[in-house]
Amino acid sequence: MAGGDIRVDELVALARAARGFMPDDEGATLLAAAERAGVAFNDPAAGAPVFVEIGAWCGKSTVYIGAAAERTGAVLFSVDHHRGSEENQAGWEHHDADLVDPVDGRIDTLPHWRRTVARARLESSVVGMVGDSPTIAKAWRRPLAFCFIDGGHGEAPAWADYRGWAPHVALGGWLAIHDVFPDPADGGRPPYELWCDALASGRWREDGEQGSLRILRRTARDP
Ligand code: SAH
Ligand code: MG
Repeated sequence: MAGGDIRVDELVALARAARGFMPDDEGATLLAAAERAGVAFNDPAAGAPVFVEIGAWCGKSTVYIGAAAERTGAVLFSVDHHRGSEENQAGWEHHDADLVDPVDGRIDTLPHWRRTVARARLESSVVGMVGDSPTIAKAWRRPLAFCFIDGGHGEAPAWADYRGWAPHVALGGWLAIHDVFPDPADGGRPPYELWCDALASGRWREDGEQGSLRILRRTARDP
């Protein structure tokens, strides 16, 4: 990651302070990978490089990837229905009662996400897409320079995100997957299984990792 730059230092500090599920060292690796993508896809004739993140929560990963977008002239589309994943609902491990909207009793992280992005002054590099990830994926057409998958971690949602979004990653583009735990004692299986599937396909090569974050780069198109 580029250091010694006041703006990136500010954004990294904001990302670190933001509420969410991304250790500082993984955030730095995420930012650096997105920055590689923004630089590699900087082709004025093709329009701005496009980044997508699936699973934004309160905007922590959004600020890391948004920092890379701002630095490289890319646009980050941040996809989340902001209702929380299964594992965020009442009674589950990652539930925060203060994120529940008192009007309808449902989780609503959108106001928190907006505040995080506004505080970071990233509105001209980051666009929120509020909705169901597979629904957005099936209407999507732009090739992606960078895609970060960190949505629902259950079997069905994780595979739906992977099947819906990985095909949109351009040749030479990047795919980052969060919460990849090779040892089942450390966490759930689905993100690890996606990562294994990508490697087994022969269409991706490893391009870095930190903690449970895995970075892949597309080396061949899908058949
Ligand atoms: N990247 C975040 C953490 C994301 S938590 C961080 O850095 O802190 C997972 C997110 O995925 C939740 O906010 C949840 O609302 C979202 N999510 C789960 N299933 C989804 C779906 N089908 N469509 C859109 N978002 C979804
Ligand atoms: Mg995660």
